Amino acid sequence: MQLVVMKFGGTSVGTTDRVMVVARRLIEAKERGDRVVAVVSAMGDVTDDLLALASGISDAPPEREMDMLLATGEQVTIALLAMAIHSLGHRAMSFTGAQAGIVSDASHTKARIQAVRADRVLEAVEGGAIAIVAGFQGLTPEGEITTLGRGGSDTTAVAVAAGLGADVCEIYTDVDGVYTADPRMVPAAVKLDIVSYEEMLEMAAAGARVLQLRAVEFARNHGVVLHVRSSFNDSPGTIVREADETMEHAIISGVTHDTSEAKVTIRDVPDRPGVAAAVFGRLADSNVNVDMIIQNVSEAGSTDISFTTPKEDLVRATRAVEEVVAELGARDWQVDETVAKVSLVGAGMKTHPGVAATMFRALADAGVNLSMISTSSIRISCVIEAAQVETAVRALHTTFGLDSDAVTAEISPAAGGNLN
Ligand code: ASP
Ligand code: MG
Repeated sequence: MQLVVMKFGGTSVGTTDRVMVVARRLIEAKERGDRVVAVVSAMGDVTDDLLALASGISDAPPEREMDMLLATGEQVTIALLAMAIHSLGHRAMSFTGAQAGIVSDASHTKARIQAVRADRVLEAVEGGAIAIVAGFQGLTPEGEITTLGRGGSDTTAVAVAAGLGADVCEIYTDVDGVYTADPRMVPAAVKLDIVSYEEMLEMAAAGARVLQLRAVEFARNHGVVLHVRSSFNDSPGTIVREADETMEHAIISGVTHDTSEAKVTIRDVPDRPGVAAAVFGRLADSNVNVDMIIQNVSEAGSTDISFTTPKEDLVRATRAVEEVVAELGARDWQVDETVAKVSLVGAGMKTHPGVAATMFRALADAGVNLSMISTSSIRISCVIEAAQVETAVRALHTTFGLDSDAVTAEISPAAGGNLN
């Protein structure tokens, strides 16, 4: 008897009809003989609507109250889904994050799960019910409700799967799996059958919205095998697991893009020890996530520092920067919200020279200007103008032989272009 965790995102439970579809799907799994735990998100755009309500009151509401508000979204879904299962003649029991034993730290709106004490959930499934857990929320040891950051239901699902020792954690979503690029932007994108944790981590960090970054980290750290698949059909999706020799080694697995960040530049910062520590220390204290950082070559004792940050952190970021600019005596600062990041991800990059050069050439030929570049051992990211993001992603997808009809990849015919 398998224990499966099945997670359904906001679109999959967007209407009561879809909630009924999910209920049937859970019942089918149960009737196949599995013990079934569902984890669900808020319906459709409910989380966005709640955020909009809050911003109608204040542009910086207390984060504790924000979590109190946001956690209501998922609570609606769990109750409706349990009712749906009952209406179909089966047993189900819903649990909030707190009831499911999801213990988190106290960093409101982006809390981290510290432990899962899923005894009640286990008891429910062992008693023959389908257990339904609210995604995205936790409880601190002090009893405060938290949320886990946008897309956090994925992390709940993985944590519950790890906590229960589930056989697989299935992430049902509105796409068929993980693609070589966003199929809405690149019609020639191809679904990947298998991706390693390492590649998936880089893709998620680079803006692939199919899985939350934290969820992938959690899965890797606890060896939870993920299956990302469509909630609208039965086709197999993409398996995310530890890399091994049997895995296909493409040089490039995908091209991702991200338009959710803004670029902040602080101009004429004094060039002396401790300045970067002061800037980024202040940002960290303000709970601001920072992604890419560049510091320009110093001229006449001063330098420019630019960084990118999620737009949702921008109000806090600009407050922090304002203070730090005054303290350090920097000239001024500016925000550019019309940027995008395009990234190439592939484990084969480690051992294959020339990938960066090929990438920069392809972008140059497409007339795309680069304003920041950063790399890891298996990723290269460039910040460009938001208006050019489609051009850039398509150019890279084609250049690296990822298009569905591509026969060879330009940089290495041996690797093959089609990843399926
Ligand atoms: N409802 C939350 C959000 O929209 C969590 C999730 O969907 O995973 O971010
Ligand atoms: Mg959502």
